[in-house]
Amino acid sequence: MRDIEVVDPVFASYVLGNAGLKKLADGFRWTEGPVWFGDHNALLFNDLPRNRTMRWSEHGVERFREPSDYANGQARDRQGRLIACSHRRRCLLRIEHDGRVTELATHFEGRRLNSPNDVVVKSDGTIWFTDPVYGISTDYEGGKQASEIPEHVWRLEPDSGTLTPVISDVVGPNGLCFSPDERQLYVAATGVLLAADHTKSIQVCDVTAEGRLSEGRFFARVSPGFADGFRCDEHGNLWCSAGDGVHCLSPDGRLLGRIRVPAIVSNVAFGGLSRDRLFICASETLFSIFLNVRGAVWP
Ligand code: MG
Repeated sequence: MRDIEVVDPVFASYVLGNAGLKKLADGFRWTEGPVWFGDHNALLFNDLPRNRTMRWSEHGVERFREPSDYANGQARDRQGRLIACSHRRRCLLRIEHDGRVTELATHFEGRRLNSPNDVVVKSDGTIWFTDPVYGISTDYEGGKQASEIPEHVWRLEPDSGTLTPVISDVVGPNGLCFSPDERQLYVAATGVLLAADHTKSIQVCDVTAEGRLSEGRFFARVSPGFADGFRCDEHGNLWCSAGDGVHCLSPDGRLLGRIRVPAIVSNVAFGGLSRDRLFICASETLFSIFLNVRGAVWP
């Protein structure tokens, strides 16, 4: 398949000879935040600069939530509710089952968050998210505003509202994802926006039983471009956004192969009935590809 490049032979077993990259919809400004809703057989994602959350299904694409408060990364919590990072409101949002919107985390010690970027929910219900300044650096993605707090990765206990900084030394914390056993947390460090910063990398931390993190260490660097969002498969491989498509990285950080995508990829999500379909948000377009590997299921 011309879309597929096998670097390590194991990657050949993850792809299908008769299922290539397929364009599902386009004409958006910048797609982000893919999250699969199996009970609706649909994917929610954001057209971030247009301030809309979209809903894709085999029947087509429609607007799901507008305004979206310039939502970026998204996830589902353990109760199946949509959790969204809002640039404009500088907070984490939860869309309740009846459609009401709840602000989950807005401030830390009296100072506003920057612009939550990406989010994952751990099996214990805690919500982990990154908070770089990207969303308040331009009017395009939510509106220029002053930063009041250094960039962090945060852990939120949603019942108590307790917000705890878990990483404070990453410049431009962006995508994040737990390993399938939740013993590792991967975090993209994308540095200063638009800077030719060769330190852009993915860091990995060990997660303790108490929800603390070890010091981060280098995991991998993707090229061309840099890692924005990523998700794990059932084997613990990372399917990672890159400048030329999606890169598949082994749990020890080696490039196994890549799916070439004709646009800059921002984020990915596994979905479909068997979790074997990778949805790819890439600039103005939503793509998918069926794989012979399934997305991770957390404990
Ligand atoms: Mg991101």
